[in-house]
Parts: sequence; C-alpha cells; structure tokens
Amino acid sequence: YRADKLLEDHIDALLNGGTVVPTTAEEHRKVQRQADAYSPEELGNILVEYAITAPATGNQLTAPFAFNLMFGTKIGPSGTLTGYLRPETAQGLFVNFRRLLDYNNGRVPFAAAQIGLGFRNEIAPKNGLLRVREFTMAEIEHFVNPAEKEHPKFASVRNIVMKLFDRDAQLGTGRIAELTVGAAVSAGTIANETLAYFMARTQLFMVKIGMDLTKLRFRQHLATEMAHYAADCWDLEIFTAYGWIECVGHADRACYDLAVHSAATGVQTEAFKQLDTPVEMESVTLLPDRKTIGLTFKKEQKAVYAALDVLQSDDSKLRAFEATLSTGEAVLHDGETAWKLTPDMLAFKRSKKLVQVVKFIPSVIEPSFGIGRILHALLEHSFHQRDSKDEQRVVMRFAPPVAPIKCGIYNLQTNVKFMPFVAQIEKLLTDAGITNKADTSGQSVGKRYARADELGTPFGVTVDFDTLIDHSVTLRERDTMRQVRVKISALPSLLQELCGFSDHPKPWASITSRFQRVCCVEGPIRHQVTSRCIFSRPAELI
Ligand code: AMP
Repeated sequence: YRADKLLEDHIDALLNGGTVVPTTAEEHRKVQRQADAYSPEELGNILVEYAITAPATGNQLTAPFAFNLMFGTKIGPSGTLTGYLRPETAQGLFVNFRRLLDYNNGRVPFAAAQIGLGFRNEIAPKNGLLRVREFTMAEIEHFVNPAEKEHPKFASVRNIVMKLFDRDAQLGTGRIAELTVGAAVSAGTIANETLAYFMARTQLFMVKIGMDLTKLRFRQHLATEMAHYAADCWDLEIFTAYGWIECVGHADRACYDLAVHSAATGVQTEAFKQLDTPVEMESVTLLPDRKTIGLTFKKEQKAVYAALDVLQSDDSKLRAFEATLSTGEAVLHDGETAWKLTPDMLAFKRSKKLVQVVKFIPSVIEPSFGIGRILHALLEHSFHQRDSKDEQRVVMRFAPPVAPIKCGIYNLQTNVKFMPFVAQIEKLLTDAGITNKADTSGQSVGKRYARADELGTPFGVTVDFDTLIDHSVTLRERDTMRQVRVKISALPSLLQELCGFSDHPKPWASITSRFQRVCCVEGPIRHQVTSRCIFSRPAELI
C-alpha cells in the first residue's frame, strides 16, 4: 500500500461518516493535505494515531519505508552495468544543454521541449491512465538567468484569472483564491513572472483543447513537499470523477539540474551575459578545510564535495549558507543525505573585480505535462448527454483542434448521383489537411449524425438534391446541431478556420451570420430529421 494514500482514504471515510465536528474536520483535512509530504517516520506515527489498518483485511500495517521509484535494470550481455529507466524526459534536455545553448547563440532565456515515455515503479497503478508505470510526458525546460526571471511576454497573460490554492491556504483556511496572474506575482504568491507565465499558458492551452475552466485549479507544493533545491512549484489540478488530479507540474527548479550535471561530468553548463558597461562585482569562493572534512565525513567526503560544488554555483544560496554557518552550524544536503557543517570546515574568500561578462548557471522553469492524465480529464470534460425526447444521446464535445475526425461526410439518401460529390468533398478536405470520414451506409442521416456525435466529430457535411443543382451542401455543427448552406468550394478554408488551423480560429457563431441558415430540427433518432426548410438564398450562393 502507499502509506500516504491509506491516510488520505481513511480521512475521506472519516469525514464522509458525518460524525466529525467542523473544527476537528478541518484539522483532519490539514493532515490529509500534507499526506505525501510527511517523512516515513511521521507518516508511521500518524497511521498509528489514526489506528489505520490494511483496507481489505484489517491486518496491522508495517512501518512505512521509502523506496526507489526508478525502475532499475541491467545493461549489456553480462548484465554487470546497472541502469535506470528515465522517470521523466527532462534529463535528456539537461544532458544536451551545451548544444541547445550553442543553438541559441549562447543566449538565455530559451526553452526546449521534449515528449516521450517516462517510467516509474508505482506500487499501486490504478484508474486507467491516471496512475500507470509507463506514461507519456511532455516537458518544457525554460532556461533563464536566475537574476532575471521577468518574462518578456508577461503582459500578454497578466490579466488572466487563475484559481490558486497556495500553501498557506492548504494549511489554513482551505480557501482557493481567484487572482489575476499579475496580482499573484505582485503579491509574491507565485515566485516570479516566468513561472506564472507558463502557468497561465498551461491554463490557456487547457481551455483551447476543451477543458472545463471551472474544473481547473493550481495547487502550490507545501514547503515539505518541494524538492530541497526548488524555488516554487505549482501543480495544475483538474477535477475528474476521481477528484482533483495533478495533471501538469510547474516547477522553478533553480540551477540544481545543470549544476549537478556539471559537477558529475565536468561539462560546463554556464551561460554568459554581456554587460553594456563593466561593473565591479564581488565573488565569494568556498575554501574547504580538507583535513577537517576528511576526518569528519570519511567515506562520505566525496559526496560532501559534490554538494559543495553545487552550492558554489548558486551565489545567493552560497551567501545564505555562509550566514547560517556563522551562527554555529549549517546543514548541507544533496537531496538524499544531509550533513552538519561547522565553521572550522569552510572559509569564504571574497574578491572584487571589474567584469563586463557575467557568468551564471541558468535556472530552469519546467512545465511537465502528463499526457495520459490530460487525455483522461479531457474525455470526462467532453462527455455530454443530449436530452432528446425519448432517449439520451451521447455527444463527445471535443474542441475542433483536438477532435480526431474533424468532419463527417454524408449523402442524404443512397442515390448514386450523390456519390461523386461525396468523393469530391473527401478529396478536397483531405488535401486541406482536414481529417474526415465519409459515412454512406444506408442508415438515415439522423442516425449517422448521432454516431458521429458519439465519436466527437464536430462538423458534418451532407450532400442532398440541391447539391446536384448548385454544388452546395449543408454544414452541420455538432453542439448546436445548427446547419448552414455552403458551396462545396468554400468548405476547405471554412473548416480550416473553424478547426483552428490559423492562429485565430473562428467560432461557429461567427459562421452562422455569414452563411444562410438551414432550419433543421433533429428529432429522436427513430424519427430522424422531422422537419426541414430552406430559407431563401442570397444570390451569391446559388
Ligand atoms: P512529476 O514529475 O511527478 O511532477 O510528474 C509530471 C506529470 O506526470 C504529472 O503532473 C502527471 O500528469 C504525470 N504523472 C506522474 N506520475 C504518473 C503516473 N504514475 N501515471 C500517469 N501520469 C503520471
């Protein structure tokens, strides 16, 4: 069992039991929100406090223990080399950082993105695509000067409103704030413009692909939940039948990844900034006392030096460490191990020089998308049931840009005269890059519309008797079931606009005023199209 999930489920059951008074309920919720941030020892104590036992059997639980979420494997014919499947795609981008920097003329900020499989040894895979051991991730690594985390395009997202569940609210009121991106950065709720910019872009992306905005929120990581090197982290959570699910992580990972890569491989991961005029800068250099460190940490001294290298590469962290050390001791850690250092182990040398080029290890801002979880949520948010008179018709309301088939092509009746038109439209749409599917089965057109609705096809084109005369067809939109009359030759560009092929996709509503509306009432599937009348046509369409 996952100990944190056992705790969360237990508290859910407790609160749903209806016997807990509100003040105590809030205490339980606080414990629940921190479930995955406790250490194994803390979690063990809490499981005992709540008297939690194994769900199905009621058996006693062993004490929680940490285990490696990375999949180990053996490399090569003799299997002597141990390897690990990547738990995220990001590492490939860090390994290639130097090339990416060259490609960008040595300048930051720049970003690189990768999509691929990640593997994690999840102990309890469940809920379809939501928790699996092999999943598709899409990650962006945006490399930025740690001293300049403003974003040049911030103004374009400043007024977007987001729902933010910050860490104080999680541990306190439990209330979610609705703030503009600009206000959240000004108030310091989100650490910097670049992180906030990517959060806003993620929200815009979700809305564009058809996610329900009312079911999106950003949850900040608790301080105990965040990696020790991270500056700030926010998960985009999407509400589904399984509750709020983390679908996209947004992390300001500071310079940790590039610094440890450089320390381990010797590859230089610094970027440079050319200043207009030289400035005098003070630098601090760590001078370890090798004898004291050697005697104190013995076999661990190599790891201590690697952690000191990482510290040296982050000037602000180094200065903060120096200040703490001056109080008597400071804790140095590398993510896995922590060491107590005392002032006799380190000296700090200060030097001043005039510089025109500033060197720095870039910080990384990383949005990390779990594609399976997003698809699951999208399927749920797109599911809709139409209220017909005598039955419920299922409609997958996929936004046109993501619908697998953009347009269905139909003949009103099985009449051979319609077939050349169906073939012509298929070719026109395919050539224009619009995925389409002709359905010329003998069933009534209403039934075929209903089938396309279930597949989420947003548009349908029907060839009828008027087509034989004027080469026009009806174009039907799935959600409104409205139809307009359109010339066949106008279809490709119109559908490209509607499907978002251009930067400025046209909504259906803007189309209905441009074209002649067809009055068409779709009745229950059994009765099919019950009444249909065509308004008088403007001359240009004939
Ligand atoms: P993380 O690096 O843990 O923040 O994960 C990045 C994203 O990958 C998350 O926001 C999820 O969408 C997705 N993800 C993480 N673990 C799993 C899993 N076991 N199954 C499916 N998706 C996952």
